[in-house]
Amino acid sequence: MKKHANLAFFVPHNGCPQQCLFCNQNRISGADSTPTPQQVRAQCEAFLPAAGGGARPTEIAFFGGSFTAIDREIQRGLLEAAAPFVRCGRAAGIRLSTRPDAIDPETLDFLAAYGVTAIELGAQSMLDSVLAANRRGHTAADIARASALARSHPARFELGLQMMVGMYGEQDPLAGALETGRRLIALGPATARIYPTVVVENTPLCDLWRAGKYRPLTVEQAALITARLLALFEEAGVRVIRIGLHADESLRASAAAGPFHPAFGEIAQSILFFEKMQALLIPGEKELTVRVHPSRMSCAVGHGRRNLLAFARQGVTLRVLPDSTLPVGSVKRAEPAAG
Ligand code: SF4
Repeated sequence: MKKHANLAFFVPHNGCPQQCLFCNQNRISGADSTPTPQQVRAQCEAFLPAAGGGARPTEIAFFGGSFTAIDREIQRGLLEAAAPFVRCGRAAGIRLSTRPDAIDPETLDFLAAYGVTAIELGAQSMLDSVLAANRRGHTAADIARASALARSHPARFELGLQMMVGMYGEQDPLAGALETGRRLIALGPATARIYPTVVVENTPLCDLWRAGKYRPLTVEQAALITARLLALFEEAGVRVIRIGLHADESLRASAAAGPFHPAFGEIAQSILFFEKMQALLIPGEKELTVRVHPSRMSCAVGHGRRNLLAFARQGVTLRVLPDSTLPVGSVKRAEPAAG
């Protein structure tokens, strides 16, 4: 599958029927107001490559709140601004994120008419008790229903599903995340995003944390769970297109507690690569040389060289070599040269 770049517009907190426990959308998106159609048009003109140009195809993305729950005329204005850039080939499509309970057949027809190609649903969990505890206002059945509608629509929308780890109300964060991951995979998404639950100021979750009623995961705990999920999604052929929140200035300032780390994705990938390399080590071996795709060298070496150091603690010298012929996530033993 071809990788896309995004020209992203944030539509903050617009259209949300209630406030989820963990969300202060203005802070999470780093934006304070909905873009106007004029702004969308101007940014597309300024930043989209000419038709057929650019290193990778670019999609116009509306992220943040619940796009299909906002006033229909606002949706129409934004989509009308974006659609001509898809029609003339300067953008590969339009991607948007929304709530599972804000999807129905008529809405999908509306989106298809404007050239929307990918729909990402904020699923967060497939456990109804966790969804209710976080005041999501929808159930796991809503996620399944919306996913099926998007996939079976004649427009064949690319389905993306977003989930969180370490949510309030999860008795066993690892088991809960894996259960959610498996059930999301069964819905047939093309892509997934994984977010650790970060306590953001001015949210109900922050009040619970201050009252001692919520204990967030550490970075290491959340990364370990995320690594397990990455393995699950990888095995199922689901492309994970984002791990962790964007570490912009406003989130840096408002993250009160929890696994917020600018390199969270790399830490989780490092753990996954460590496990893959560990599985290649023959007992008693003192040296291990592996080959990985050049884009994954830092994950194999590990964030802060953590994998080199972990092998060194076992008395093993790890060497990592780049090999552009390998698939991005794979790790191969480098056999000693003949002769
Ligand atoms: S639906 Fe999404 S954007 Fe709206 S409050 Fe909940 S998490 Fe935030």
